[in-house]
Amino acid sequence: MAMPSLLHTSPPQISCTSSEPTKHSVSFAPKKQLLMQRKHRLQVKASTVNNYDAHGIPKQWYNIIPDLPAMPPPPLHPRTLEPLKPDDLSSLFPDELIRQEVSLDRFIDIPDEVIDIYGLWRPTPLIRAKRLEKLLDTPARIYYKYEGTSPAGSHKPNTAVPQAFYNAREGIKKVVTETGAGQWGSSIAFASSLFDLDCEVWQVRASYDQKPYRKLMMQTWGARVHPSPSDLTEAGRSILETDPLSPGSLGIAISEAVEVAAKNSDTKYCLGSVLNHVLLHQTVIGEECINQMGEIGETPDVIIGCTGGGSNFGGLAFPFIREKLKGKISPVIRAVEPSACPSLTKGVYAYDYGDTVGMTPLMKMHTLGHDFIPDPIHAGGLRYHGMAPLISHVYELGLMEAISIPQIECFQGAIQFARTEGLIPAPEPTHAIAATIREALLCKETGESKVILTAMCGHGHFDLPAYDKYLRGEMINLSYSDEKVRAPMAKIPQVLATQM
Ligand SMILES: *Cc1c(COP(=O)(O)O)cnc(C)c1O
Repeated sequence: MAMPSLLHTSPPQISCTSSEPTKHSVSFAPKKQLLMQRKHRLQVKASTVNNYDAHGIPKQWYNIIPDLPAMPPPPLHPRTLEPLKPDDLSSLFPDELIRQEVSLDRFIDIPDEVIDIYGLWRPTPLIRAKRLEKLLDTPARIYYKYEGTSPAGSHKPNTAVPQAFYNAREGIKKVVTETGAGQWGSSIAFASSLFDLDCEVWQVRASYDQKPYRKLMMQTWGARVHPSPSDLTEAGRSILETDPLSPGSLGIAISEAVEVAAKNSDTKYCLGSVLNHVLLHQTVIGEECINQMGEIGETPDVIIGCTGGGSNFGGLAFPFIREKLKGKISPVIRAVEPSACPSLTKGVYAYDYGDTVGMTPLMKMHTLGHDFIPDPIHAGGLRYHGMAPLISHVYELGLMEAISIPQIECFQGAIQFARTEGLIPAPEPTHAIAATIREALLCKETGESKVILTAMCGHGHFDLPAYDKYLRGEMINLSYSDEKVRAPMAKIPQVLATQM
């Protein structure tokens, strides 16, 4: 599970400090076609220590940790409460991903094989939402970075492909994982098929029943799919004993997949969000976007993304935060979460488990309690009790802000978006769209022509039942109640600050 930094206690394999050049860093040599031609080029351009292939795909992922003013607190072993050692993770993840999890390298090379596969859908488009601007009658300029062009229809293949690649390269035969709405499951099923890996997915029962098409995508790509809780694992059986009709949750499904990986030596576990290496892989979004905005001479004033575990948001925002920390730009960076699962805005910042049963390491993160089961909002990908430790840390450092929005407003925004821009957003990015519309309407009031950059992280072609609910007027706002969360909050382990 998420290990923000194991480096407090165990020396890293590759060590550097933020003031030293890393061995992966390359000096910036702008390509001819990228040279300044327009007056108002994105200022970050010249300082971006990164490079791109001939098509504009980044050749390196960006690790924000060495650039932060403080190190993130280390994950702790769930029994000893000692900071976790990389070895503790080796039953779950291949070596290279563990290295990336604890790396202090600012840039990490993307393997050629992975860049080649990224080329199936990358670079993804950066689109100006002119028709939405017109509808809102706003002086703001709205741009969205669209990740729905990937085979699975979201940003998740950006990390599924390298995860499958490293597992296959290290001789692993099978990967197991959990999935909520099915976005991650279908992404890892797709990636596994490219590397001849067996893939087994525990899908949250409620989605398994309600979303047959995601399950069929996984099966088409060759994966085996089980509803979670299942009777195939001890974790699943223990939940079913107390609640035979449990609709499941991401936390429960994680418990099941982790258990299977821990018990089988040829099997590793994959996670689609939350961990450092996942956020790292997603930075292709932001690196590409910095390049694209530079080419059209725009600099974002506000960057908005939805947060479930934090990976699409971090993927877009972290490269921009790097430039902000250098003082090159100063955009507001805003995460948007559902009112029904507000881990950043209403959760506590504490050590907690990543799963429901309590098998994973303890991670310091914003959490609603590891056995909090959010109401069944349509944005299944945002129904997670915690938040990436790295996003939580960046939030604590004051480098970003967060808001929550109820689902009816989100779908109102999604309908406006679909009827002007054409694309039908997945339920998750409707949160980013609703927040973008709020900001654009504020600009209308103040007369400011801000540049708003939005993470449009996936399409909603398999989520049309949610639109059906909305269009029939049957959607309800589910909001988090202090009452519902009191018991889960009380079960967050009491880990003393001195153990950090
Ligand atoms: C999984 C998913 C999310 C939530 O995960 P993050 O790690 O927060 O990005 C959001 N949107 C879509 C389309 C997803 O598939």
